[in-house]
Amino acid sequence: MKRILILGGGFGGLVVAEKLSKKFAGKHEITLVSPHRTFTFYPGLVRLAFGELQEKDVTFDLAKKLRSLNVRFIEGEVLHMKPELKRVQIAGKDVNGNVSYDYLVIAIGRRLATEKIPGLFEYAHHLLGIRAAKKFGEAVKAFDQGNIVVALGPEARLPVPVCETAFALSRVVKDSPTKPSKITVVFPEDVKDVFGGAAIYGKLKEAFDNHGIELIENMQISEVTAKEVIAYDGRALPYDLVMLVPSFRGRARFSENGITDEENFVQVDEYLRVKGLDGIYAVGDIASFLGPKLAHIAVGQARVAAENLAMELNGEEPDKVYFHEIASIIDEGGGDSIYLHFGVWDQSLYRLKTGTVWSLIKRVHDKLWTARHEKTWIDLGA
Ligand SMILES: Cc1cc2nc3c(=O)[nH]c(=O)nc-3n(C[C@H](O)[C@H](O)[C@H](O)COP(=O)(O)OP(=O)(O)OC[C@H]3O[C@@H](n4cnc5c(N)ncnc54)[C@H](O)[C@@H]3O)c2cc1C
Repeated sequence: MKRILILGGGFGGLVVAEKLSKKFAGKHEITLVSPHRTFTFYPGLVRLAFGELQEKDVTFDLAKKLRSLNVRFIEGEVLHMKPELKRVQIAGKDVNGNVSYDYLVIAIGRRLATEKIPGLFEYAHHLLGIRAAKKFGEAVKAFDQGNIVVALGPEARLPVPVCETAFALSRVVKDSPTKPSKITVVFPEDVKDVFGGAAIYGKLKEAFDNHGIELIENMQISEVTAKEVIAYDGRALPYDLVMLVPSFRGRARFSENGITDEENFVQVDEYLRVKGLDGIYAVGDIASFLGPKLAHIAVGQARVAAENLAMELNGEEPDKVYFHEIASIIDEGGGDSIYLHFGVWDQSLYRLKTGTVWSLIKRVHDKLWTARHEKTWIDLGA
């Protein structure tokens, strides 16, 4: 019996656990470590902030789900990885010490480097967690009128909720003509670069124009004061409400293992094996790849890593190759919703479409995804 240890209970970690449990539950010991007992469906947070979804719609009990999969759950946080000993050091409620493994999957997501932009913590909102999204929602409700800035910080890798927040705000402002306001979206690079090289500028600009949203590209925000967001080149934008996605980083703790790039993301090969270490895979936001970091990418990588790991467990050579592509919907709530399917590595635009149908598809997909993954054998009476 081999011990498989999965670090992280987000999209990547959960899907690896599901795939491996299907093949090996009872045969090999599968354990997942996460500091939180709940799973959070992050793509739902914009709609949570704007009161369209409740907390229960975007979370479910991860520990219960894992029990039903016959996967052991450890509530704790990984502190250090010791690959030469095949152990990780964990601190938490269930374990304080070392846990041994034969195979390891790293899926602990990215870190928000809020410290990179002075004033962000004090003056700006973000919506990258349940509490932050609710707090931003309260600020929107209390907002009277004036300048709204919705921005992607330098090296932040999440343009989709920035666009969706701007569209949602434009609906709020439109529904309340007593609140004359200007909405500005700020990107740190060209739209194209922000979306990993995809030629989405025309469609996105048209959608922003239809909603009276101003777009500023290549503005790298360096500071937030009580009244303005300020860029490295000295440009300043006055604001009355600001939502700013902070810079993304990997995890400095893995740099001691020599497996990270300059932003501390974990470097992997085409099979998603961590470069230079045997029996270790990395998936999702923590893995070092170009372009935006998205849930569907984490899920796709989890599938590939789980298949390759299964081959190793069966004594075979892993041969499932990962291909890096974006398939994402920017939900405007209506006809300006955009579907983008783009191959980052071959720079091929497979599909770029707009229409109300994409908003509907995203909403139905999100609901089904949480329902399907939340469902446990216990719920099914099995
Ligand atoms: C507001 C918002 C909107 C988004 N919209 C979209 C969208 O429309 N479409 C889309 O495709 N993507 C979207 N995303 C991106 C998507 O949510 C992420 O890409 C996805 O969550 C990445 O999955 P992951 O498993 O790599 O990381 P996560 O989902 O972040 O999971 C990481 C897990 O690791 C755990 N962890 C953290 N530190 C440790 C540690 N030290 N030890 C053990 N465990 C640890 C965490 O608790 C968590 O369980 C959105 C994200 C946000 C925040």
